[in-house]
Amino acid sequence: MDRAVMQKGTLYLVSTPIGNLKDITYRAVEILASVDLIAAEDTRHAAILLKHYNISTSTTSYFDFNKERKTPGLIEKLLNGGSIAVISDAGTPGISDPAFYIVREAIRHDIAIEAIPGATAFVPALIISGLPTDRFIFEGFLPPKKGRQSRLKALSDETRTIILYESPKKLMTTLYDLRQHLGNRRISLARELTKKFEQIYRGTLEEITDSPNVIKLKGEFVIIIEGNKEK
Ligand code: SAM
Repeated sequence: MDRAVMQKGTLYLVSTPIGNLKDITYRAVEILASVDLIAAEDTRHAAILLKHYNISTSTTSYFDFNKERKTPGLIEKLLNGGSIAVISDAGTPGISDPAFYIVREAIRHDIAIEAIPGATAFVPALIISGLPTDRFIFEGFLPPKKGRQSRLKALSDETRTIILYESPKKLMTTLYDLRQHLGNRRISLARELTKKFEQIYRGTLEEITDSPNVIKLKGEFVIIIEGNKEK
């Protein structure tokens, strides 16, 4: 069967670029153009992508704070044979964004789901880091307060390469916390991947926290940390 053909009553999880608008698959563009509705984490951001590919499909907002209110209506639409694509602000829906919620509800209602693979920030950040890629653990964002200390403590024993997402505002705090709990480790910071100001900082936690001025605290970051070598 040609999987590019859009199926009625299906929920599509469509990966979109993490910066460079060309990082999208032909199939993703076809699906976005043919579904009945696109549920987008940020409709203004989605509009830029859709305009670039001349896609005129209607959009509705679907983000963390409205997901519980919006999901029943979207499920109803799918049960009535409508097709919906979920896209996140960037990258793969469900990776550190609200798509997980609708996926669980769709499964509960026996609705067909298809994932359209594509960009996600942690894979390019990992493969460019120079740290071991054979075994790794994706931790997403560290909890800001509750549970943060225990998560950091658990990570200090982790032998696989560790991947974290972080905002530019909290980046230095997180790097200091990592140094305190994990000791000195090799790390790599991937900033603004696929975008004009892409930069990769490679070094150790001590080097980077002792000379924070080398890092421009703007844009989006993925932190890659070497696993515990003493274990
Ligand atoms: N769903 C996305 C994915 O598949 O990677 C992740 C969404 S999460 C809300 C946003 C975080 O992803 C950012 O804070 C940053 O850590 C990371 N990120 C997204 N785009 C990035 C980019 N172009 N360069 C570096 N990190 C990025």
